[in-house]
Amino acid sequence: MKTLKDKVIVITGASSGIGEAMAREYAARGAKVVLGARSVQKLQLLAGEIRRHGGQAAYCGVDVTRPEECRGLIDTAVREFGGVDVLVCNAGISMRALFDDVELEVLHRLMDVNFWGTVNCCKYALPYLQRAKGSIVGVSSVAGLHGLPGRTGYSASKYAMTGFLETLRIENLRKGLHVMIACPGFTASNVRFSALTADGSQQGETPRDESKMMSPVEVARIVERGILRRKRLCLMEAEGRATHFVKKFAPAFLDRMFYMVMAREPDSPLR
Ligand code: NDP
Repeated sequence: MKTLKDKVIVITGASSGIGEAMAREYAARGAKVVLGARSVQKLQLLAGEIRRHGGQAAYCGVDVTRPEECRGLIDTAVREFGGVDVLVCNAGISMRALFDDVELEVLHRLMDVNFWGTVNCCKYALPYLQRAKGSIVGVSSVAGLHGLPGRTGYSASKYAMTGFLETLRIENLRKGLHVMIACPGFTASNVRFSALTADGSQQGETPRDESKMMSPVEVARIVERGILRRKRLCLMEAEGRATHFVKKFAPAFLDRMFYMVMAREPDSPLR
């Protein structure tokens, strides 16, 4: 794949943040984008905007925790554009609470959206991706490279995605399927506002300075390069690269660094 032009790209979580930026960027490159999320009205507006700019877009309301709705998203891509070349499993939620305090339901919810949402979409897209010798992109996180304190369910769900996607890559070694795990660092978006607290309610605010983070557009462009180069792992910035490197040689040091950084957040649950 030399360019995204004319490729059919299914993006989950396209109503906000990184997914929304991917939709705009990839459509501007000539890709046919298929947008999935629960907020159908936002998807409708985004698809309309893309079409007004001369791009091609379809959308489908989907809760990725529901397999039948994921099938519907893939069916939309096939009906509108004839197949799937790239599936970006981006829909995700976060959390912020110590495991001591958190309701187990919160961890189940994280696994349902981040892990099972990925599995559900891959299940129905796989035959088309195999036919196209296409790409699956799992949007993981630096929290999927090393455990992030206060985010047990989030880190666990991203590690689970990695285990699933790595295995899928090996199973498809002779079928030409490309599988990439993308690990953004802190990126300005809605993810911290919607993050679940100990009792499952949404945090409603961000504990970090969003203006100092990567932008969703930067993430979308780095992921695009990763798809075209058929990379296995897509690290984005200094923290991600450092985490990946230091973990190999000094994991205990990395534990202390992660603790220190997260303990400095305002109202940090670490005590
Ligand atoms: P946003 O909160 O801005 O976007 C999350 C998207 O996921 C929304 O479009 C939301 O749409 C969708 N979503 C949530 N739950 C479901 C569901 N059950 N079914 C379908 N769609 C759902 O966050 P980001 O853009 O930041 O997050 C995108 C991905 O990037 C996530 O996987 C996140 O873990 C990852 N990431 C983000 C980082 C960051 O700092 N922002 C850092 C590292 C990774 P809707 O509510 O309409 O369903």
